[in-house]
Amino acid sequence: MLLKQLKATEVKEETKMMEQTLVLIKPDGVQRGLVGRILGRFEDVGLKIKGVKMVWVTPEFSKKHYKELLKKHFYPWLEEMITEGPVVAIVLEGLHAIELVRKLVGATEPRTALPGTIRGDFAHHSYEFTDAKQRSIKNLVHASGNAKEAKEEVKLWFTDKELHAYKTVHEKHVF
Ligand code: UDP
Ligand code: MG
Repeated sequence: MLLKQLKATEVKEETKMMEQTLVLIKPDGVQRGLVGRILGRFEDVGLKIKGVKMVWVTPEFSKKHYKELLKKHFYPWLEEMITEGPVVAIVLEGLHAIELVRKLVGATEPRTALPGTIRGDFAHHSYEFTDAKQRSIKNLVHASGNAKEAKEEVKLWFTDKELHAYKTVHEKHVF
């Protein structure tokens, strides 16, 4: 009886830690042919791909996705960049997935992003450079920044039907 109760509590705790987060491989990542290598980084740590699709973002949709950044000086450059070609949109699921994906992605500015991170390994330019050129930072990926953003972004980009339920081999070894 006690064991059964303990197990139920454990499952509840695991469910709380299980998170979904939105990743976009931005047009620079797609055009540079890095989709496979970037997706591989997330698969390597055991994150589950819940949904994936290719989307050409419109200016209207960009304003929804980047609603918190509309007043920033770089927003017009950001919109130009995110609408210049298709992106690959992915919902990833795993324990503490929001924080984990941000760690794998690295800092916003490729100049300061650490080696080993996606942005640190595949780009190197700086805010100083892109501001002088009046361009957006091209840092290959977007990843939800926190739990609120993740919830809103997964809902904005994917319908329930586009998110798939299946078991990965990683789950066998974790749970
Ligand atoms: N960005 C930019 N110039 C800046 C700051 C941000 O071009 O000075 C772009 C960059 O592509 C970044 C995106 O705007 O990824 C969104 O900015 P945010 O601060 O949310 O960074 P992120 O969450 O992507 O690390
Ligand atoms: Mg952000």
